[in-house]
Amino acid sequence: MNFKLDTEKLRKLKHLLVDREKTLQYHGKCPHCEVTIEYHETHTSLSAIREYNITVPEEEDYGVIIGTCNNCKEIFKVNIANPDCSGFKLEYIKTDFYFDNDKQKEMMYKKTPSLTDFIDQNNILIDRKTDYDFFNHPLYICNECEQNLETISFKILKEKWGLISEEYWGYINWSLGKSRGPSPKYIFIKFPFLCNCGQEHTANFVSLYQENISFEKHVFALVNIFGARSLPDVIFGVYTKSNIMTWLHKLIIRWNILFKKVYIISPYVGHLFLSDEKKVDAWLSIINRLDDEKTSILVKSGQVKIFKESFSKTNKNSYDEMVRFNLGSKIIKELKNKNNFHAKIYCAVGKNGCEIMNGSSNLVEGVSYEVVNFDIMESYKKTFDRFLKPLGIDDVSAQFETHDENEYSLLFDESNSFEVFDLQIYPRDYTDLILHNITPTRP
Ligand SMILES: [Zn+2]
Ligand SMILES: [Zn+2]
Repeated sequence: MNFKLDTEKLRKLKHLLVDREKTLQYHGKCPHCEVTIEYHETHTSLSAIREYNITVPEEEDYGVIIGTCNNCKEIFKVNIANPDCSGFKLEYIKTDFYFDNDKQKEMMYKKTPSLTDFIDQNNILIDRKTDYDFFNHPLYICNECEQNLETISFKILKEKWGLISEEYWGYINWSLGKSRGPSPKYIFIKFPFLCNCGQEHTANFVSLYQENISFEKHVFALVNIFGARSLPDVIFGVYTKSNIMTWLHKLIIRWNILFKKVYIISPYVGHLFLSDEKKVDAWLSIINRLDDEKTSILVKSGQVKIFKESFSKTNKNSYDEMVRFNLGSKIIKELKNKNNFHAKIYCAVGKNGCEIMNGSSNLVEGVSYEVVNFDIMESYKKTFDRFLKPLGIDDVSAQFETHDENEYSLLFDESNSFEVFDLQIYPRDYTDLILHNITPTRP
């Protein structure tokens, strides 16, 4: 179809053209008080807008956003692409914006100073990784025939995505049309499927909510499969370091959602003979998967110093410089150091129980064999007394009842035709839903 939309109309549609893959993150300093200000520049891509049955070309405008510093309350400006859609990490800091041809506002903000001292896009220490390897070292296998249920269910998810994404698209459009509160955090997807041997299972997938229904742009992970072999029976024996690390990566995704606190306890990260780059990789492959709000790491003293030195040698910005811009890892900052331990414990704790993987494997990939096992404990107290207290870790049971009031998620359940409008899922529901197959009901 060949027709023209004027700039005004295009700008109204622009939020539908935003391409999250192209979003750039920046850090600058307030010109008045030097506090770090985080902001993002949004870009668009050609998009098909189903609602109007048209394809709209990308629409890039340039201009300025005005912020009011939440520390010193003074205002500053930033030259930016798409000032209508770009903004600050703290949304309320954005107090005005204008496009380049707006002479009136240009005059108004003529004397406003710009953000200073930028550091670009270097989010290497705080980027979250959520990729899930569906093809190797499955956590969920068929109890009857031992097949990898992760590969089978992922293939079925792809087939069902057409149906799911229609419901999802309906929700996105509805939510864009109403006044905006916080967006859902996750989407959970639940459907029954048959293993090749005929055994029935129910898959529980998760992905972060996005205003986007492209299958490829979502990063799916499995948080459970009902009917699969129990995890203590799967993670039990002698396996390669790489196999154990893959399991740990998968467990971390599950733990971040289901538990209140995650502990990564390992005397060493990587090993002595790795190059600086490999040492940094070993650290990043783990810290980039962890939720910095809920994780504690315990390593031998000296390990952190080695990481910071290797990082500074192999990156454009030194570790200290990253910290100056709030780009250092919060996890590393809070990490505890101790010298007299050799235990390797990876565990998650919460009100409804604890999961612990432990054995002989440090945080490192490799082909050599290590012993490993997995326990599900009902009692936090027992887990704490036996595994955490001896290492000087604090009792955190007081935090178990607190939940983020603003967090909620969507559930696409095949038994409810994947409809999402009638039910929001809150963090207090996650355990019932994912571990016990109980869908919450609301009065
Ligand atoms: Zn300021
Ligand atoms: Zn089977």
